[in-house]
Amino acid sequence: MTYVDTHCHLDHHPEATADEQVARARAADVGTLITIGTDLPSSEQAVRTAARFDGVFAAVGIHPNDADTATTEALAAIADLAMRPEVVAIGETGLDRYRDHTTPEQQDPVFRAQIELAKRLDLTLVIHCRDAWPACLVVLDEEGAPDRVVMHCFSGDLDVVRRCADAGWYLSFAGNVTFRNAQELRDAAAAVPAELLLTETDSPYLTPHPYRGRWNDPSFVPHTLRALAATRGEEPEDLAASVRDNTVRAFALPVPAED
Ligand SMILES: [Zn+2]
Repeated sequence: MTYVDTHCHLDHHPEATADEQVARARAADVGTLITIGTDLPSSEQAVRTAARFDGVFAAVGIHPNDADTATTEALAAIADLAMRPEVVAIGETGLDRYRDHTTPEQQDPVFRAQIELAKRLDLTLVIHCRDAWPACLVVLDEEGAPDRVVMHCFSGDLDVVRRCADAGWYLSFAGNVTFRNAQELRDAAAAVPAELLLTETDSPYLTPHPYRGRWNDPSFVPHTLRALAATRGEEPEDLAASVRDNTVRAFALPVPAED
């Protein structure tokens, strides 16, 4: 299998079941999927889904826009779930100043608690950061980042690319990098060191061009990979191979046996 989707929400799709989405992904040569929670119920669902399919892994965590659900009990339940063998990451967590479902004061301690959890369990940390780069980098600096950090649906500028790259953090790009008005994001993608670049769909959201207007699913990730390859002046096959290697390192995945 050629392609990788490091961030999808298989249980958020309003029209397709996880089984249908995984089948479509396989037909599109997408071999590895990481389905990710945004709160406790969706994290439990992500683990149940990952347990049913080879090549599907789970991330468990509480999204900043759901930080109001992060009670002590919910965070303890996330920590228990994170021990399951299907789980490769804590997330998505982080900071979001774009939407105001929750306040910065609610988001901050929930982000810090999940950084601590990722470090304690030696899991990858998947970060959602929207319009909050300075604050996000300060929190990571103060808490100390886990060994493996992924900036999902990367939206930062060249300066943020440099700061993340210096720290050895992975930058994952979603379908919005294919949008016509996204030249700044493509410029950022072109500057990412090859060994830190990842691909994702963030499905069912952010459907890549030219399928905007439809629900997204992991089978669309090749469009994002090809847009990144064109932006970076690389061959799609070469970029796909390096993204596969990066994914194995970023999430400490078991390496599949050669067939
Ligand atoms: Zn997401």
